[in-house]
Amino acid sequence: MGEAASGDSSNSPDRAAQTFEFPLAETKPGIYEGAFMAREFKPLAKARIGFYFDSPSSQGGAAGKRVEAAARGRVTTMADAESLWARVAAEQFVSLYVDPEGFGRMGHAPRDSVLLVTGRAADRYRVELAPNVEAWIASDYAELLKPGQAGAPAFMHTEIARSSGPEEAELFVPTGGPPVPYGWTLDWDGMGLTARLFGLSVGGDIWGFHRDTSVIASIQRSEPLQKVVEYALRLRRPLCGYRFEYGNGGVTAKVRAFPALGGASGPLQGMKICLDAGHGGSSDPGAVGSTGLPERTVNLKIAKALGRHLEALGAAIVYTRETDKQLTLSGRPRTALAAGAHLFIACHCDSLDVSSDPIAIRGTTQFYYYPHSQRWARAIGDRLGAWLEQRGSFNRGVVNRGFTVTRETSWFPSVLIEFCFMSHPGDEEFLYSDRDIDGMAGAAAQGVADAVAELLQGGRPNPSMP
Ligand SMILES: [Zn+2]
Repeated sequence: MGEAASGDSSNSPDRAAQTFEFPLAETKPGIYEGAFMAREFKPLAKARIGFYFDSPSSQGGAAGKRVEAAARGRVTTMADAESLWARVAAEQFVSLYVDPEGFGRMGHAPRDSVLLVTGRAADRYRVELAPNVEAWIASDYAELLKPGQAGAPAFMHTEIARSSGPEEAELFVPTGGPPVPYGWTLDWDGMGLTARLFGLSVGGDIWGFHRDTSVIASIQRSEPLQKVVEYALRLRRPLCGYRFEYGNGGVTAKVRAFPALGGASGPLQGMKICLDAGHGGSSDPGAVGSTGLPERTVNLKIAKALGRHLEALGAAIVYTRETDKQLTLSGRPRTALAAGAHLFIACHCDSLDVSSDPIAIRGTTQFYYYPHSQRWARAIGDRLGAWLEQRGSFNRGVVNRGFTVTRETSWFPSVLIEFCFMSHPGDEEFLYSDRDIDGMAGAAAQGVADAVAELLQGGRPNPSMP
């Protein structure tokens, strides 16, 4: 797409179709990025929005032509009179949007959400989550509705909050009509979250909220922006997980608190942890070390050693596999869900491909996807890194990246630990030694205990503390 707009503004007194061009720069090999102030094409929005164009080499065909034809990006806005609506035709789409205060946030729109289209750029539509809160959706994920097929959804709602178990509570918001987009931010101290629903206005009072719920301490509702309703949920104990579900004519925000933690058995008493030894079976061996050590075997050793250390700290352990067998990727977190786990740790070892210099990179890396998993990744990485650094290796740090096992669910924190680089001969040496595997596993377990202590203290501990 990216065709020029008609430029005919005579039929729309509010907002005419316009085309804007802006410079593109190659920010990474093959990725062209451009940015401009949205104010230029929509007076009320102050957002700065980036565009990404695939290079000819990475995509070929039409994508290539787009970049070649335009060393400048091009945005075409819709006239108000066009009233174009799109239905989300993917499972859900996730987009970074910038709210009018300039904060970048993630917005989620589930399948069948109906959104007003206010512009297009290359293969994307600009859509409204709420007035002046805009996101972008790939045109492949959106089905444009014919005129008259959809109007602006009308919403009236009251809310119902209830406990649904000793660790869980939910807030049901009847919305009517198609699903509404949502977003959330987590409280820094791990004690709550703010859920954000787009396209809604505040209805009646919160109905049926029982102050004696064992999970939720308080709910505050506000409408900080036009047609954006926020619910700030504070919990009585630290947040373990959350999810948003659609059905029964509304959206349900579910939150889960950790059980009471700690006791005579150790600081992790009350906690169930699912350990996932990566890969498995001869058809999924994982990486191979510099001297031929198979990752699937090492991962299982690490997981079992980690399990012993976590049990010693009071945790109950569930394993996705305890033998050398093949598992599906999405089946691994499902095992944790079925077991009611409060934390999921995937154990892997990293490797460079054979064409790379094996001594170029070594050390541990910790991956997470949902934001509530970050503190667990960091705490484990801090301890594991300290162990490795005493032996000449490194902590490469925490990375936000979606692997199937870390992205499958937000119902518990989930981290994927690359314990070290098995392609590096020095790192691989640790993996030959049961004593070193035990040392790394013990350090990682201590990191889990650190994260628990941090949550129970209401945030990050004082860095000057030993
Ligand atoms: Zn692996």
